[in-house]
Amino acid sequence: MDLIIRRAVLPPSAAQPNVFVDIGIEGGRIAAVEPTLAATAREEIDANGSLVTPPFVDAHFHMDATLSYGLPRVNMSGTLLEGIALWGELKPHLTQEALVARALQYCDWAVARGLLAIRTHVDVCDERLLAVEALLEVKRRVAPYMDLQLVAFPQDGLLRSADAFDNLKRAIAMGVDVVGGIPHFERTMADGAESVRLLCEFAAGKGLRVDMHCDESDDPMSRHIETLAAQTHRLGMQGRVTGSHLTSMHSMDNYYVSKLLLLMREAGVAAIANPLINITLQGRSDTYPKRRGMTRVPEMMAAGIDVAFGHDCVMDPWYSLGSGDMLEVAHMGLHVAQMTGIDAMHACFDAVTANAARILGLERYGIEPGCDANLVVLDARDAVEAIRLRAARLAVVSRGKVVSRAPAARAQLSLEGRPAEVDFKLHRG
Ligand SMILES: [Zn+2]
Repeated sequence: MDLIIRRAVLPPSAAQPNVFVDIGIEGGRIAAVEPTLAATAREEIDANGSLVTPPFVDAHFHMDATLSYGLPRVNMSGTLLEGIALWGELKPHLTQEALVARALQYCDWAVARGLLAIRTHVDVCDERLLAVEALLEVKRRVAPYMDLQLVAFPQDGLLRSADAFDNLKRAIAMGVDVVGGIPHFERTMADGAESVRLLCEFAAGKGLRVDMHCDESDDPMSRHIETLAAQTHRLGMQGRVTGSHLTSMHSMDNYYVSKLLLLMREAGVAAIANPLINITLQGRSDTYPKRRGMTRVPEMMAAGIDVAFGHDCVMDPWYSLGSGDMLEVAHMGLHVAQMTGIDAMHACFDAVTANAARILGLERYGIEPGCDANLVVLDARDAVEAIRLRAARLAVVSRGKVVSRAPAARAQLSLEGRPAEVDFKLHRG
């Protein structure tokens, strides 16, 4: 074989603690998963009881804006609207070269974090479609080690911005994968609903997936997700449509939500929350009590709706922080949604791995024979420990090759009568 990872613990590890397996890899695929693999390989990694998972998947990102922090200035208020205004100031100064360079640098960070599949929105409200061309180039460049999926995103509104629909259609013709939208940013609720109808009909005609920024607002009357679910159902697009953000659901009336969740479930509409961004951008005009703003994640999961967590932004007009670490995203999502029960914590791990992979429609994702050999060896014994420690990615394997290695987090102590080293894991006895 090409590579064998020995003594790995697979998720969900709570169900079968301390069951070690060997993972054999050949020709870019997983060839065998067995307790003790007799085969030999050119390269072996001893996981030594560490968690080995399929790679992290970011279901919602903006790679055209990433790492532009400070260009041409920083977001002084830190608000969503100043962020959108700032992006508008930056757009005329974008060059394809600089955009490709920033995106590739971010992809380097992502690989080192074991993040090997990203769905990124790309702004199409620009006659030049410069960002579209740049990210299609980035997609080609990273294809040997990363799955990049592009969404045509009319940032300034499909109907509100002149030529936005034409530009979106051009972007799709150039090879962008998914149809985006931003109904809550249109001039009126009616225009928002109309934009959802137009975009869903366009996507259905092309056989494409849909992923809209939807109801990213504190306004409980922002109900475009209802229209999105209804159009999905009407057009027979079950399982191919996603609502991103859905933050207004946090502020909606409970009775209305009880109907809405059933509509979403019926339509097979998935949801993506962006915990780091939602907790910082929502509730900005509240005094106290201040709303958290993130959509109703555990309630949607309980209703059988697919929910993923996205990173959304890293060092851009909307968010000054981040480093491509989906465990940081899961950590924040867990806290904001109060998902501290044992099953709920595991569900937060799924929200940045398996659930996100389903939403992107990734094939051959997982750790079973026949799956693509994309894996992460974490310096943690289970998913909860991985989230707690934002565990180091000891090794990242893409298409059967080790593409990144990192040391474990350890500190050396110099204390009388105390251990020489700490690894931040609970050791008993
Ligand atoms: Zn977004």
